Amino acid sequence: MEKREESAVKTYADLVRAIEESGRPYELAAVERAYRMAEQAHAGQKRLSGESYVSHPVAVACLTVDLGLDTDSVVAALLHDTVEDTKITSADVRAAFGAEVELLVDGVTKLGRISFSSVEEQQAENLRKMLLAMSKDVRVMLIKLCDRLHNMRTGDGWPEQKRRDKSLETMEVYAPIAHRLGMSNIKEELEDRSLRYLDPVGYQDITDALAKNGGADAFISGIAERIGERLAEVGIAECTIKKRIKSVYGIYRKMYMQNRTFEEIYDVYAVRIILNTVGECYNALGVIHDMYHPIPSRFKDYISTPKPNLYQSLHTTVIGHEGIPFEVQIRTWEMDQTAEYGVAAHWKYKAGVSTKDKLDDRIAWVRQLLESQRESEDAGDLLRDIKSELLPEEVFAFTPKGDVINLPAGATAIDFAYAIHSAVGNRMTGAKANGRIVPIDHKVVTGEIIEVITGPKDKGPSRDWLNIVVTSEAKNKIRNWFKKERKEENIAEGKAALEKELRRNLVTIPADKYDAFMADLARRQRLNTPEELYAAIGYGGLQLSRLMIKIKDEYARLLKEKNPVEVLDVPIRKHKASEGVIVEGLDNCMVKFAKCCNPLPGDDIIGFITRGFGVSIHKRSCPNACGGLLGDDAPRWVSARWADSVKESFKSSLEISAVDRGGLMADVAVLIAEMHLPCYSISARQLPDGRATMSLTIGVNNTEHLNTVIARLRKIKSITNITRV
Ligand code: MN
Repeated sequence: MEKREESAVKTYADLVRAIEESGRPYELAAVERAYRMAEQAHAGQKRLSGESYVSHPVAVACLTVDLGLDTDSVVAALLHDTVEDTKITSADVRAAFGAEVELLVDGVTKLGRISFSSVEEQQAENLRKMLLAMSKDVRVMLIKLCDRLHNMRTGDGWPEQKRRDKSLETMEVYAPIAHRLGMSNIKEELEDRSLRYLDPVGYQDITDALAKNGGADAFISGIAERIGERLAEVGIAECTIKKRIKSVYGIYRKMYMQNRTFEEIYDVYAVRIILNTVGECYNALGVIHDMYHPIPSRFKDYISTPKPNLYQSLHTTVIGHEGIPFEVQIRTWEMDQTAEYGVAAHWKYKAGVSTKDKLDDRIAWVRQLLESQRESEDAGDLLRDIKSELLPEEVFAFTPKGDVINLPAGATAIDFAYAIHSAVGNRMTGAKANGRIVPIDHKVVTGEIIEVITGPKDKGPSRDWLNIVVTSEAKNKIRNWFKKERKEENIAEGKAALEKELRRNLVTIPADKYDAFMADLARRQRLNTPEELYAAIGYGGLQLSRLMIKIKDEYARLLKEKNPVEVLDVPIRKHKASEGVIVEGLDNCMVKFAKCCNPLPGDDIIGFITRGFGVSIHKRSCPNACGGLLGDDAPRWVSARWADSVKESFKSSLEISAVDRGGLMADVAVLIAEMHLPCYSISARQLPDGRATMSLTIGVNNTEHLNTVIARLRKIKSITNITRV
């Protein structure tokens, strides 16, 4: 709103005054110590503009005070360039001010080391997300934004190239981040200052046009005055009217993107009326529409329907007596604070500024905000949305050229290589992370520079990679390579894999029927020959597990035709674990877990030998098992036990009862995500008596693990009972 033409050069006295004027309880002693430390460390250093260097961190600290940040942030702002540019180490910072401040300074330092040149939209978006992922504590990003703002205010001394680079980076990366954090003042100033360096002529044209209109300030001031008088007449005495002239860059964008002239932009001028109560807001709206002619299509009520980022206000556009349109925004003080300062407003409003868990809440809130502001409005499933914002489910790494590659968490260097290009992946022989050789299954960490080492053109991937890679993109590209390049090998691989799977499932097709059986199977898959079928299995185009279902059906039919085959006649060998289960007398047989009781490691279990479907494992307490042991099939039941080392995750279903409340499902989903549990299904149902029930199928390692999960779920408010089903 107000013009910010104060001096960009700040002294320590200015900082102290800002702190005193803020009225908040800062620890002045700590701030003073930080200032002395910074002053000493930067002694002798000068900025390009000529002032002593320390004036920069002092100015940044002033900005953090303006934003309402806490003592730790102000201290970190004072020290933000010391670790990078002076002899001070982060250990020194910790010794003097504690781990919290060290973390903030380190965070800002790390962000500062990332520079980039490419500004393709996708790249910029990845970079923004990466920076946010890197500044785990939102204060890091807020300090960084203050740092950038002060640098842009004082960039006139920079060489031309540096001006352009910094301006582009600011425009593409930092201004959008400020926007997402809801800090509109900082965002606009960053954009205007960037524009001034990037298109000095365009910038000048608009500032000239604004000056021409009899002086933009005079025009809007006249309107504000008249509105104030009229409101007083109808009894709304206490109100604040702010005048707004659209930011230069805001006008620039509209002019160039929508190909309009300056005069064709409706919201160059705006007044904002800030009142005490919501009731007064609607009264004032009536007064405005009585005074000026409203443009009907431009009325918006964001008070009754707030924007996803919690923005609330009434908007209307009216035609002034001079024929010049202007926008009117009407809102309460609290709404105004949220709109102006976003996240920071909540900090100012909460008195006890520095307790740790509140900070975590705020971060969660910021992330939620970031998520809800994403443009894509397809209401995807709730669980995925919550997960992707709370869990850092993504990692971001650089190519040596500086492009950012975005991968799901857990992705490996091979995934990275295939994300660049299939040709890079196919020729990969090794990888370096930050200059060091790493194994190719190295898990990518956010911020790393990954260099893919490649071999000769015809090198090709390894089949083992299919078990290592995480992204479907990499999987598909690897499969495609095998499909194209290794026909014979695929046939052999596929045939072997199929035969192995048949053995595991205890399926024995009589030799005289084998060829016909396979030919028939191929036809059913719309393939011409069994060879094509094998090849498809070999390169992974056909999923063996799916195919087995069809094979078993056919096999069951075959068995009916013939005399009953004695399936139980299987060779007895040593005990060996299969899927984490040791079945008495059967080696490496196909094992599956019964859906009726979902056994987990730790449960007492028992196996049932099925016809052609391997051994199905039940809990000993399962009613099916208890009943079955007495029936005709009793001989098919075999003892089974868990192998010692079980790594797999097992499905387990829970039934949750709760008193219904908003956000219940979200709380459960967030907890599951936080515990890194795979979630196979989640559903909730309201019951008529104000209660709710949820069904949940998750993956856990064993009963002990499950009990931990249940204990944590129980802590969620309003959950009354949890049973395993
Ligand atoms: Mn700096």
